[in-house]
Amino acid sequence: MAIPSYDALLQRAKQALPQALSTGERFQIPEAEIVVEGKTTILRNFLDIVEAIRRDPNMVLTYLLRELGTAGAQDGRRVVFKGKVTGQQVADRVKSYVDTYVMCQECGRPDTRLVKEDRVAMLECDACGARRPVKSVKKAAKVEEPPLVEGKVYELMIQDIGKKGDGIAKLDRYVIYVPGTAKGAIVKVHIEKIAGTVAFGRISLE
Ligand SMILES: [Zn+2]
Repeated sequence: MAIPSYDALLQRAKQALPQALSTGERFQIPEAEIVVEGKTTILRNFLDIVEAIRRDPNMVLTYLLRELGTAGAQDGRRVVFKGKVTGQQVADRVKSYVDTYVMCQECGRPDTRLVKEDRVAMLECDACGARRPVKSVKKAAKVEEPPLVEGKVYELMIQDIGKKGDGIAKLDRYVIYVPGTAKGAIVKVHIEKIAGTVAFGRISLE
């Protein structure tokens, strides 16, 4: 029995791949072309960049403006930014946009689509079929402390008095019971226990 050559195997493997994979082979983001004109900066090839990464221009622009902390508007294929922006600054933001909204985390290819699912933006990969919520990339990097932590002290206002006479304060989604307080009092509360969205505290003497 003849053993197929490596080339023949490779050929066969390529044919079996979905089309999207081969179209992404030359994925290249155009370098930002920047011209400073007076008090504005012009990104001359904005739409070239947007077309290369295949995303909605408005979405990309909104992201760039937010990340650059400047105002700006699309003008044909260009974007005019207020103030001075360097090519490197634009390139960095485009790269982080691509990492978050374009690149598949599984296979590293850009052949993805943004789809909405129950109001959550999902990145769907045509090349490998992977799906992930878009925001998860950012959230993983951010360490967020919950609004209420056991053992910590918070300054709270007693908004109500419960049936058993405990003061009731609220913080974020938590309802906090504090004995020995009066309605309207602003007190320092030591959080002793949190159970779900209910917490129990005592007046702190700190
Ligand atoms: Zn993938």
